[in-house]
Amino acid sequence: MIDLHIHTNCSDGEFSPEETLRMAYEAGITVAAVTDHDTVSGIASASKTATAFGMLFFPGIEISVQGGKELHILGYGIDPASPGLLEFCAKHARDRSVRCDKMLAYLQERGIMITLEDVRRCNNGKTTGRPHFARALVAKDYASSVQDAFDRYLTTPEFYDRVERPKPLPADGIRIIREAGGVAVLAHPYQLKLEEPALDALLVQLKEMGLQGIETYYSRHTPQQTACYLALAKKYDLLYTCGSDFHGPGVKPDIALGTGISGNLCITDPMIPEQLLQAVKKKDKT
Ligand code: AMP
Ligand code: ZN
Ligand code: FE
Ligand code: FE
Repeated sequence: MIDLHIHTNCSDGEFSPEETLRMAYEAGITVAAVTDHDTVSGIASASKTATAFGMLFFPGIEISVQGGKELHILGYGIDPASPGLLEFCAKHARDRSVRCDKMLAYLQERGIMITLEDVRRCNNGKTTGRPHFARALVAKDYASSVQDAFDRYLTTPEFYDRVERPKPLPADGIRIIREAGGVAVLAHPYQLKLEEPALDALLVQLKEMGLQGIETYYSRHTPQQTACYLALAKKYDLLYTCGSDFHGPGVKPDIALGTGISGNLCITDPMIPEQLLQAVKKKDKT
């Protein structure tokens, strides 16, 4: 089984890279990628654990870029020691820290008494993601679930206006990944909430910027969406990939490693790792 979209507690997942890769192995995954948000700090230990279990491992990252509220680009086969990438990650860690202070103030204005310590309890003192806030809100009974916290506080127009951190342009996100030796893939296209013609047009633009693939099989894609994204990948000669977006049951309770939601993923298509390996190698040569 293949899962190329996995988060650890180096970003907003629940488990350490070692724990996560052990769980992936136990779930029957043979090809894995860790794609933490704006950080590569989990790659070395994830890679070591995956290799020890005989899995094929792609070092990855997920970068949020401007354009649409949630436009995310996955990078595969990146060099985690690339100076440009590390500089990018350091900048975004600082921006997350600023956003963290703004978020606390924003919530306090609404009478929500969440402290930095409450958030830190959920994130091991590492970078702060919105899911950490969501978990703190649930722990303090300000929301009934992580999803409820997102709906009420973390995806509102006011959040995006007043609290959200600066994000790179799509072209810059793609360039950072490619300059670090990676393959750039559009994450979970359904999240863009675009009709097919608009998505088609966006793909043309992103491909011109260097996009190489589309995450076609994804836990929250319907069979119709998957078919549409597969057709678009073929149309534009882009790679297609698969991933669960596992974060752990405390963050995304319905999403399981490899199998997705109620077994809707379970992807084994050998073309996926083969084409990705080829694309990573091609980049090595240039
Ligand atoms: P951040 O990078 O800190 O802004 O947070 C990104 C995380 O928030 C990812 O794990 C997303 O899956 C999650 N996320 C974004 N939008 C939503 C939403 N509407 N509902 C639940 N989770 C979301
Ligand atoms: Zn996440
Ligand atoms: Fe994402
Ligand atoms: Fe993700």
